Amino acid sequence: MKTAIYPGSFDPVTLGHLNIIKRASRCFDRLVVCVMVNSEKPGGMFTPDERVELLKRVTDKLPNVEIDQYAGLVAEYARIQKACTLVKGLRAVSDYEKEVQMALINRKLNPRLDTMFLTSSAKYTYLSSSAVKEMGRHGADLSDFVPREIMEDVQQRMNRGR
Ligand code: ADP
Repeated sequence: MKTAIYPGSFDPVTLGHLNIIKRASRCFDRLVVCVMVNSEKPGGMFTPDERVELLKRVTDKLPNVEIDQYAGLVAEYARIQKACTLVKGLRAVSDYEKEVQMALINRKLNPRLDTMFLTSSAKYTYLSSSAVKEMGRHGADLSDFVPREIMEDVQQRMNRGR
């Protein structure tokens, strides 16, 4: 069985992430979307448990997609899950440099692990969780950016912070 891991912060999951999840799930028998807890982005709008719950809701209809969280190195997590591939989304050149470095480090830590890059769908290249948070804080309509199933949660969290 071919398993892949799609790691990230997912704070919150956006339509850009969901697009990558759907496309990657067609390439593997099993795709584990993993909220990485000790990433470079501390704090956050949603707790890791909440991010997992939101991800579960939006991937409900994708039978080979699982959601998890992990506080550690993704290379180690891949070993635990017996995964041979990491999936990453590439939006722009700015993602490229960091992602290539990460891919090389991860392969050094776990030589059986390869990274597969999926280019972002053109309509989501500008989209990131931080952009969603910024737009939401200023009351913008988020329906083109966030999955419908979690819109209310995001909106409520924004209103609490405003
Ligand atoms: P961000 O906080 O920047 O949205 P994450 O850390 O949650 O990003 O991203 C996890 C993965 O998803 C990364 O590989 C990132 O490049 C990818 N990704 C994020 N947004 C998009 C998008 N709009 N289109 C394609 N890939 C994306």
